[in-house]
Amino acid sequence: MLPEVLEPALRLDIDSDALVSNWRALDRLSGAARAGAAVKANAYGLGAKQVVPLLREAGCADFFVAHWGEAAELLNSAEPTSIAVLHGPLSDADAAFARASGIVPVINSLAQAQRWNAAGGGRCHLMVDTGINRLGVSLAELGDDAVRALDIDVMLSHLVASEEETDLNALQCARWNAARGEVRHARASLANSGGIALGADFHGDLTRPGIALYGGVPRGEMAALLRQVARPQAAILQVHDVAAGETIGYNATFTAPHAMRVGTIALGYADGYLRCWSGKGAFHANGKRLPVLGRVSMDMTVIDLSSASDLGEGDWVTADYALPEAAAVSGLSQYELLTSLGRRFGR
Ligand SMILES: *Cc1c(COP(=O)(O)O)cnc(C)c1O
Repeated sequence: MLPEVLEPALRLDIDSDALVSNWRALDRLSGAARAGAAVKANAYGLGAKQVVPLLREAGCADFFVAHWGEAAELLNSAEPTSIAVLHGPLSDADAAFARASGIVPVINSLAQAQRWNAAGGGRCHLMVDTGINRLGVSLAELGDDAVRALDIDVMLSHLVASEEETDLNALQCARWNAARGEVRHARASLANSGGIALGADFHGDLTRPGIALYGGVPRGEMAALLRQVARPQAAILQVHDVAAGETIGYNATFTAPHAMRVGTIALGYADGYLRCWSGKGAFHANGKRLPVLGRVSMDMTVIDLSSASDLGEGDWVTADYALPEAAAVSGLSQYELLTSLGRRFGR
């Protein structure tokens, strides 16, 4: 008989209290609006099945994913709240699935509006493009009969650069306000994480934070409100004593300047710990900092244990992964740092 559960040598530690605290902080910062949650891409890599019930329990009632498959996987975890699919109905089958499941389609074009109406319609959201030129109905199209026929719950738009000081924010806000006057809808929504900090003009009835829920800090003034949520942790597979002059890892990019005690951990670029961390990243355990030595390989990384004689095979170490700092060190965005975390993590 095989044992039922194999212990992974890799896990993503999720601080549920920090996640809920971040949602509450963003909900408060949203003023009169309620905060929803973007949980696409498996809740930015953290595990949507774990994240959604925690946020629903905290009071979050509006969830956003990108794909229909993502919504289908959440049907049981999210009920009785609203799950919306940002890509919208791409086919009659999508529209039929939405009507049967109660998942809310986000209508992004006249073609999608016609498709939804032809399928029988019902409650939907409408994405209006105020400048991102990615998805959405244009302001000029709002008078179209197909749009007028929709039963719109949330009329939403998406900011181009809410983390920056740019005139685009005010311009998009003005266009979104114009759209609010042109199309019948129950609720209006504009702000993603960064947009929530832009003030009451950006709040409407519903905000849609994503990255900030998971510990990302899109704007400096939000740093004090938000806590780190996700911490990659890996087990030490093997410990070596390396003599001065020996090299470590592929392509011998690190040469030991003196005798060192090093550990090989079960985390590599296949897990989303990308090669940009080679020679730059660090881990910690028991208050000791443990720098990455040489190249990150596919399934393994070598770290310096010289300062941590108490650590040995089977012990766990935690990556330095506070998102603003990790982004600065790695050159990856805070979004990439989370969404690239792979399937081998126990979540
Ligand atoms: C991803 C997404 C969000 C969340 O954005 P963050 O920058 O992560 O807060 C909100 N709205 C839409 C339409 C999105 O695609």
